[in-house]
Amino acid sequence: MSSTSRLRVAICGAGIGGLTFALALSRYPDIDIDIYESARQLTEVGAGIGIFPRPWKIIKMLGLEADLLKVTETQVADGPVSSFRYRKSDQREGMEFFTLVTQGSLVLFHRADYQQTLLNHLPRRCRTHCSKRLRSYTQRQSGPIELFFEDGTTAFCDVLVGADGLKSSVRASLLSEKARWAQAEGRWKEASEILTHVDPVWCGTNAYRALIPVEKLRAIAPNHRVLSTPGVQYLGKHGYIIAYRISGGKLVNFVAFVSRHHLENTKFNGPWMSTVDPSAFASFFAHWEPDVQALIACTEKPMQWAIHTVRPMQSFISGRVALLGDAAHSMTPHQGSGAGQAIEDAYILATVLGHSNTNRSNVHRALRIYDSIRCPAAYKVMEKCRINGRYFTFELDGFDLDHLPPKQQWDYLQQLGQTWVRNWEWAWTTSVDGTVQEALRQLESRI
Ligand SMILES: Cc1cc2nc3c(=O)[nH]c(=O)nc-3n(C[C@H](O)[C@H](O)[C@H](O)COP(=O)(O)OP(=O)(O)OC[C@H]3O[C@@H](n4cnc5c(N)ncnc54)[C@H](O)[C@@H]3O)c2cc1C
Repeated sequence: MSSTSRLRVAICGAGIGGLTFALALSRYPDIDIDIYESARQLTEVGAGIGIFPRPWKIIKMLGLEADLLKVTETQVADGPVSSFRYRKSDQREGMEFFTLVTQGSLVLFHRADYQQTLLNHLPRRCRTHCSKRLRSYTQRQSGPIELFFEDGTTAFCDVLVGADGLKSSVRASLLSEKARWAQAEGRWKEASEILTHVDPVWCGTNAYRALIPVEKLRAIAPNHRVLSTPGVQYLGKHGYIIAYRISGGKLVNFVAFVSRHHLENTKFNGPWMSTVDPSAFASFFAHWEPDVQALIACTEKPMQWAIHTVRPMQSFISGRVALLGDAAHSMTPHQGSGAGQAIEDAYILATVLGHSNTNRSNVHRALRIYDSIRCPAAYKVMEKCRINGRYFTFELDGFDLDHLPPKQQWDYLQQLGQTWVRNWEWAWTTSVDGTVQEALRQLESRI
């Protein structure tokens, strides 16, 4: 980018996706970066997060590795690593049946540590504006994009990136814009179809999340598996629990999922996120093995998250506006990959926008390359996550695992483990390098 045509990029949302994008873009000095965040200050709510080897490579390329290693207990390795143990737990005595071996480590953090590390690395020239909730934007064929905030103020940019999460205002504005264009050309059916992607849909699953002090768990269950293993998943019919240590081993990240898959794509009645009493989910797991009871007994003020997704759209872009992360493809958490996909979006988008061939007049082409690569890839991952959600809750084509003879049940569980590995191994057997090369190849051959 020549200095006479400095590109002004506005990022809406300072979550994992927005901040990673800002950091990746800040490597290109000729771009002005403004981050608009609705929250009063930058704090990540919530709990643990796992990053697989594929997005971890990007974290390394962004120079975050050394600092992140200071805030994780994970001993990062490149070779085969036992990442999770799997148990059939919906019975009085649980049964361990599978170990997930990944090629390279699944690195586990507290989200706040990840966000703080990103912020520490962000150069000053990335201007962050808090308490700025975007309401909508307008763009014309040429000229700046105008941003409208809830507080009545406005701002301008050449490119707008919506990293504003599940309930994205940028997505709502972008889809309304596309629907208006379709209506103007008499494509009424298409216009109404476009608008069905504005509101997220419930996937039929609720997650109950809590952070448990390790010492509290140790006090009631000194031999608890979570105290001595990188991570454990306790599986059963219609639900599962995932538990692993974070924050240098001081806390256990606990998430219990209760699924009613037949309610997928319906409307959830009630608040999407709320503090609940542990009894809200304890009864569902009441007949599960003792490890599970110990974890549940340690939860205090768990949060209920009704898991919502974005219905897959045709595209992540419109003119000079692009979506990334959950705003584009909020997915179920059953492969621990939503943030990883946001990180991948961020890196690819920054690579094409920051390239020396990209300037203000041809920026839409860079966005189209981003879209052609990331939109199909992210939705493929979204579907894989959905399928893992079925496997982990023993949703097995109508037959009942508990009615199989023990040997057959064991064999079936082994096969099931192999099946979800095949569905999931893209996260540790594939590399982002090929995708970056493909983006560059397209950019350099087209412009
Ligand atoms: C239970 C659970 C477990 C998960 N575990 C994992 C895991 O292990 N690994 C993994 O990779 N992923 C995981 N995920 C998914 C991951 O949390 C998300 O995919 C990721 O946080 C998305 O990041 P984002 O930056 O796109 O969106 P968000 O984190 O939602 O950030 C959006 C930001 O935009 C701001 N914002 C919103 N609206 C506006 C507006 N109008 N104007 C300005 N700012 C706005 C918000 O305040 C927020 O800061 C999990 C998800 C769940 C629910």
